[in-house]
Amino acid sequence: MDARTTGADETLYVAPGEAERGSKDPFFAVYATPEGDRRWGYFCGHCESFDNAMDSMGRIKCNRCANIRKPDEWDAAHE
Ligand SMILES: [Zn+2]
Repeated sequence: MDARTTGADETLYVAPGEAERGSKDPFFAVYATPEGDRRWGYFCGHCESFDNAMDSMGRIKCNRCANIRKPDEWDAAHE
């Protein structure tokens, strides 16, 4: 786990082995504890921010650099 501090001075833990492919760079799974037992959200590997959101379609979009993780169905259709 890779400990990082957010803009709000919270410490969160990024799991380098849990990457979701994004349009620019991967998103990494983020946990609230070093043990990885409390899921927090995602970390953008492109601009290194926690500022992103998942929509109802399962897309993750970074609010800073517009890196996007498409839903799994999209990946399957293009490979
Ligand atoms: Zn980003």
